[in-house]
Amino acid sequence: MAILVYLEQAAGKVKSTSLEAVSFAKALAQKTGEGEVVALALGTMDASELAKVGKAGASKVLYASDPRLTEGVIQAHASATAQAFKSLGAKTLVLAKSSLGDAVSARLAIKLDAALVSNVVELPDLSSGYVVKRSIYTGKAFAFTPVAKENKILAIKKNAIELSKEGVDASVESCSVSLTDVDFASKITSTERASGQILLPEADVVVSGGRGMKGPENWGMLEELASTLGAATGCSKPVSDIGWRPHHEHVGQTGVKVAPSLYVAVGISGAIQHLAGVNSSKCIVVINKDPEAPFFKAADYGIVGDAFEVIPKLTAALKAQ
Ligand SMILES: Cc1cc2nc3c(=O)[nH]c(=O)nc-3n(C[C@H](O)[C@H](O)[C@H](O)COP(=O)(O)OP(=O)(O)OC[C@H]3O[C@@H](n4cnc5c(N)ncnc54)[C@H](O)[C@@H]3O)c2cc1C
Repeated sequence: MAILVYLEQAAGKVKSTSLEAVSFAKALAQKTGEGEVVALALGTMDASELAKVGKAGASKVLYASDPRLTEGVIQAHASATAQAFKSLGAKTLVLAKSSLGDAVSARLAIKLDAALVSNVVELPDLSSGYVVKRSIYTGKAFAFTPVAKENKILAIKKNAIELSKEGVDASVESCSVSLTDVDFASKITSTERASGQILLPEADVVVSGGRGMKGPENWGMLEELASTLGAATGCSKPVSDIGWRPHHEHVGQTGVKVAPSLYVAVGISGAIQHLAGVNSSKCIVVINKDPEAPFFKAADYGIVGDAFEVIPKLTAALKAQ
């Protein structure tokens, strides 16, 4: 028996959220006695990169090396994963909760006649059946979901699981999957990558600016703070609507949902729609000149002050360290 983990990649590297899924699967296998953890890699990837998946807890990586799978064609990924799951005789599939993962896992739930539980934050409670704790209402509450089906798919919430680095390199085995034209009926004709070194949805630290920044010409100071902290930059919706920042930086209910260790919000009021995208952050720091700004209620630390005075001083202090 084994647990299968579906891996996602970005530019040939396994995404950190997928490594968290591997660590979750390892702990799950120990708890349920489901044996080893096998990860599935699709598309063109570097074999040495794949071996590293072992450090997170997988003993083996099945590698379906097919360039057509490098971009996430949903139907093809679902078909390939279903085949690997069946040939492994697995009962549990683990993956990271993500936009691609959502689409693939929904199809897999049908193909495998499996129960799908998304946004999982803890190992299941086995004391009375199989009960999975998951995050709901954009991180404001938890639901405890009993799972009765034999086949299970668990999609793990970002940052909910400690990434293990204690394992050893995994063995990498090639895996052949049979895909037809139907699996590639939808085509990704081009992709536009978000600019910047650190991608916002993946970032561990985010520095975000709102309308309080007054204009795009003032973003230099936020970028400097972000680069000092090794952070990605984000913004509120009006900021991207006006065109001060690109749309892929828009954080919130209708934008990117982030879950970094640290979220620094500068000149953002803290409207509920913005908070919906950030309240899974581990630590929130708010900088706003209005002490009544709603964001302070959601903040772990707050600075009441003018961003144009606070940010340069903060950046200088961080650089000095
Ligand atoms: C259906 C719907 C969906 C939405 N989805 C989103 C979403 O996904 N994301 C999102 O962000 N919004 C979303 N919104 C918009 C949201 O309701 C707010 O209007 C928006 O978040 C406000 O952006 P802001 O905080 O940048 O601007 P403002 O509300 O104008 O706030 C600016 C803040 O900057 C502060 N400030 C001003 N000058 C300074 C200074 N010099 N130094 C420090 N602070 C200063 C002010 O005190 C104020 O708190 C949505 C709205 C609707 C109706």
